[in-house]
Amino acid sequence: MPSKTNTLSTFTNALSTACERLGYSDSIHKLLALSAREIKVEIPIVRDNGELAVFSGYRVQHHNARGPYKGGLRYHPKVDLEEVRDLASLMTLKTALMDIPLGGAKGGIDCDPHSLTSRELEMLTRKFVKRMHRHIGPEMDIMAPDVGTDASIMGWIHSEYSAIYGHSPAVVTGKPINLGGSQGREKATGYGVAIVIDAVARTRGGPLSGATAVIQGFGNVGMHAAFCLRDLGVKVIAVSDSRTAVYGKDGLDLDGLVKHKQERGTLEDVDGHRNISHEELLALECDYLIPAALGGAITRKNVDTLNCRHLVEAANAPVTPDAEDALLKRNVEIVPDILANAGGVIVSYFEWVQNLQRRAWPLFKVDRELNRILHGAAHDVMSRSHDEGITLRAAAYEIAAMRVKDALDATGF
Ligand code: GLU
Repeated sequence: MPSKTNTLSTFTNALSTACERLGYSDSIHKLLALSAREIKVEIPIVRDNGELAVFSGYRVQHHNARGPYKGGLRYHPKVDLEEVRDLASLMTLKTALMDIPLGGAKGGIDCDPHSLTSRELEMLTRKFVKRMHRHIGPEMDIMAPDVGTDASIMGWIHSEYSAIYGHSPAVVTGKPINLGGSQGREKATGYGVAIVIDAVARTRGGPLSGATAVIQGFGNVGMHAAFCLRDLGVKVIAVSDSRTAVYGKDGLDLDGLVKHKQERGTLEDVDGHRNISHEELLALECDYLIPAALGGAITRKNVDTLNCRHLVEAANAPVTPDAEDALLKRNVEIVPDILANAGGVIVSYFEWVQNLQRRAWPLFKVDRELNRILHGAAHDVMSRSHDEGITLRAAAYEIAAMRVKDALDATGF
């Protein structure tokens, strides 16, 4: 798990640099950095063993000048206000960079979802909505899945909110399809990672087919990224889960890995594959290293072992600022989170639009529109980076900050 200070400073540093280069006043910088509203609630539930347990829940609404607050809900034992605040700011910049009409927010509950039963998770989620419902809504703040949450949890949010306000599928995205979820939402973040890598490879002139990728994390994001990259001809040579990593120099049998993981709950002892340590995985020589697990995965301590040409941030804030400096000195190109993992919120936006219009899109339309938006954003970021001689992260932050500032200006504050 990341040091919170490091995660926070990735955002803080990049935003300060962007504001300085854009010539923004301290007040504008402050307005872009601070959140509009921060909510904390305590949530008591009776566990299956009859004992009372109390969890803390958070929602930080960062900015809504460009549209309703939008962002995921994270269930993880290390969730706290500081982390949620940081991730909420990232969402404001992510939606602005994608130029979709939404703001930024993030929420979380400090629980370990793996140690709770399905009934306990449902109770916790419903109680959270009971405490939070006045502050969320289809035109106010729209939640979505993040680390430790999934479609069923989004379904409970929809159900609890709708019990108060009437049928309101647009209050949350990433729902099950039969409750108004969108085709293509589940794979969207991982697919988006592959689309962005494709866009970068095209601009850099290097062939994507035959390139190698190493993915840290085999959850929803890492797994879909692996399949989509394979479809683009990339050799995925290693993936990991929280316990172990698997390596195959000629490319992994991804279908076999998924089957094994579903049957045994682990990536250990998969037929025809070699297990390696997490440290060995990060040190593998590859074209694309893709951290797709938690924030703060690449730090000063392990950065010198990395052997990749590009680092693609599929997770939010996986690289600490000192590790970023070290990578840039070695000419490793970093594709920043607000571009690389934006596929999820883009298809969330499509889901919201479909819910508001009461009309479902076919998968080909979702995929086509996702490609259009992501290729456009990747192109804008790479052009600005090239023209201004700045990193991809700096370019992405500048484009996003300008869009939020322009919206704030237009509202007259
Ligand atoms: N949790 C995802 C993210 O960090 C998706 C958010 C959303 O769809 O609103 O981008």
